[in-house]
Amino acid sequence: RREGREHRYALFNPAMHARALADMEMERDLRRALERDEFVLQYQPIVRLDTGRVKGFEALVRWQHPEHGLVPPDRFIPLAEETLLILDLSRFVLAEACRQAVAWAAHFAEPPVVSVNLSGRQFISSQIADEVSDLSAQYGCPPSLINLEITESAILADKDMALAGMQALHARGFKLSMDDFGTGYSSLSYIHQFPFDYIKIDRSFINSLTEDVRTEAIVTAILRLAETLDKQVIAEGIETPEQHATLKRLGCGGGQGYLFSRPVDAPSALRLFQDAPWW
Ligand code: C2E
Ligand code: CA
Ligand code: CA
Ligand code: CA
Repeated sequence: RREGREHRYALFNPAMHARALADMEMERDLRRALERDEFVLQYQPIVRLDTGRVKGFEALVRWQHPEHGLVPPDRFIPLAEETLLILDLSRFVLAEACRQAVAWAAHFAEPPVVSVNLSGRQFISSQIADEVSDLSAQYGCPPSLINLEITESAILADKDMALAGMQALHARGFKLSMDDFGTGYSSLSYIHQFPFDYIKIDRSFINSLTEDVRTEAIVTAILRLAETLDKQVIAEGIETPEQHATLKRLGCGGGQGYLFSRPVDAPSALRLFQDAPWW
C-alpha cells in the first residue's frame, strides 16, 4: 500500500511532469524538423596516419534549428531513440551520406569512404540489411563506399538479431566498424564474434595516452589484438601533435580528431580531401 502511494506520488511529481512535457514538446519538434528538412550532416576526416591523407569521413548529424542554430546530436539522439523517430532520422542520414558519397566518387579514382552511425533500434528489425542496401542502391551507391559504425550498446539489445543483421550487411559489401571500442564491458568478446572490419578506439584512451604509461600499454595491446584478428584500427579524438606522434610510433593505421579537423560541411570536407596532408 505504501508502495502504491509512493508510486502515485512519483507520477505527480511536478519536476517529472515538467520533464515529460518538455520531452513531448521536443518529440513534436523533432518530428516537425524531419518534415521540414532541418537536419544536416557534417563530415569529419578519417586520416591515414602514415601518409597523412584523408581516406574517408564520418558523417555526423546536426539539427539546423531555426532559433537555436546548430544543435549537436547528444541533445536529440537519445529522445529520438526512445520514440523510434531515430528510424526516420537514420534513414535521412544514410540517404544523405549515400548521395554525398556518390557525388564525391565521381571525381576520384580512390574516393573517400563515408562512415555512418547506426542505432541499436535499427537492429530490432530483421530487415536492416535489405533496408540499407535498398536505400544505397536507390542512390546508386556501391556498398564499398559506406562504412557502418556500431557501438557495443547497439548490439546489446538483441545480440542474435544484431549478428544476423551485421553478417548480412557484411556479405553485401558494407564495411563495419566497432565504435567507441573499450568503453563497454563486452568489447573484447564482441570483437571476434561480429564481422567488424575496423575498431575505433574510444577517445577516452587517446585522451590520457601521452600522460599515462598504462594507457599506452592498453592501446598497444589493442593494436596487437587488432593485427592478430586482421582488423584495421582508427584512433578517435586525436587533439595534440604528441598524441598523433605516439599513435604513429605505435603503428596505429588511422586517426580522427580535432587536430586534423572538426566536423565540417561537405564543400569544406572535399577541400580537406584534396589538400591533405598538411599536418
Ligand atoms: P561518435 O560516433 O563517437 O562520434 C564522434 C564524436 O566525437 C563527434 O561528436 C565528434 O565531433 C567528436 N569528436 C571528434 N574528434 C574529437 C576530438 O578530437 N575531441 C573531442 N572532444 N571530440 C571529438 P558529435 O558529432 O557531437 O556526435 C556525438 C555522438 O552522437 C556520436 O558519437 C554518435 O554516437 C551520435 N551521432 C552523431 N551522428 C549520428 C547519427 O547520424 N546517427 C546516430 N545514431 N548517432 C549519431
Ligand atoms: Ca561514430
Ligand atoms: Ca566513437
Ligand atoms: Ca559515442
